[in-house]
Amino acid sequence: MTQAVLVLNVGSSSIKYQLLALDDAGEGDRLATGSVDRIGEKGPGTLRHRPADASAWERTEVFASHEQALDSVLEAFRSAGPGLDAAELTAIGHRVVHGGSRFTEATVLDDDVVGTLRELNPLAPLHNPPNITGIEVARKAFPGVPQVAVFDTAFHQSLPPSAYTYAVPREWRERYSVRRYGFHGTSHAYVSRRAAAFLGQTVEETNVIVLHLGNGASVCAVEGGRSVETSMGLTPLEGLVMGTRSGDLDPAVPAYLQRVAGLDAEAVDRELNRSSGLLGLAGSNDLRDVQKAAEAGDPDARLAHEVYCHRIRKYIGAYYAVLGRVDAVVFTAGVGENDERTRVLSTQGLERLGIRVDPVRNAAAERGERAVSAPGAQVPVLVIPTDEEIEIARQTLAALA
Ligand code: AMP
Repeated sequence: MTQAVLVLNVGSSSIKYQLLALDDAGEGDRLATGSVDRIGEKGPGTLRHRPADASAWERTEVFASHEQALDSVLEAFRSAGPGLDAAELTAIGHRVVHGGSRFTEATVLDDDVVGTLRELNPLAPLHNPPNITGIEVARKAFPGVPQVAVFDTAFHQSLPPSAYTYAVPREWRERYSVRRYGFHGTSHAYVSRRAAAFLGQTVEETNVIVLHLGNGASVCAVEGGRSVETSMGLTPLEGLVMGTRSGDLDPAVPAYLQRVAGLDAEAVDRELNRSSGLLGLAGSNDLRDVQKAAEAGDPDARLAHEVYCHRIRKYIGAYYAVLGRVDAVVFTAGVGENDERTRVLSTQGLERLGIRVDPVRNAAAERGERAVSAPGAQVPVLVIPTDEEIEIARQTLAALA
């Protein structure tokens, strides 16, 4: 039996959605995908609706609110198909960025759960409030359809205290919930499971290091299907160099800048999140632009890619030590799946750890799940395309089972 799940990812000014049909094994087909941008802005935004077996449907108008944008999405389904009534929606799955320590798994939404979610807003002031708006709007629009919150943080709730505890005063930890939470959990869960299947092993016997390298980027050490260490922390700022985020830096840097540059805390936070990373180093947050500039001889772009890969290499070594035995190193997301140079540079010098990318396999124009290390390599290096939406749909159905 297949079940239809609408997956909603609502941001502060955008909505992304997919309608998926999942079979009993959790395998799925995409029936439609779409997005709305510039919600709540003065100028017009665009709704792009792409049904799997009909032509795309586009509309440009001012989307004053999330309510209006979701109404337009429903109209797109009515006009261009597939009909949501005919699809007999089993459930709606909402991506929620931060579940704090309260939510260790996907959770069916009711008024109490929404109230608890609201209490977590201070932990993710940019992400959680629009997620909750999406939940409220969808609960009104589909009163009879069960709805589930699927958290980016939940997969990492298995971190041991030694990995999630920051060495800071007790009051910060207890009163203000300062600890490592980790993000990209749906991606790390999906990719680590697929990696075990690719290796022909059970999840329980498989240890992998997953490198999710997209516009945001994080590493996860997965031991027997459980996240035991991850590079993002209280917020998605810590860890790897990202498109616009700095990742790790000396925690003294913000106070230093407040003193010498007169920046307030908000300004430092903004700059570290939005003007740093590849953008801060090379002038673009898109690695494709950075690579092009590096090829043309731009020294800033070359340095940016070296810094980016050096950080990844450091984390591979560190997480190797955390796991003790590694069955595969797995690259995923926009950069991990597509950029062969990043896979080469970030694993260079790790041959003694059994990690070696095969130049021919790595450069092949293949897509899909594949090994890019030589056959029989001690630690296979894999590329596994991520699919966060199918994982959200799968967790949504599991929460209702
Ligand atoms: P994601 O967040 O997973 O959608 O990844 C987006 C990022 O992937 C973009 O900002 C690009 O930097 C990167 N990306 C996508 N395709 C390529 C490619 N062919 N080569 C290098 N980087 C890519």
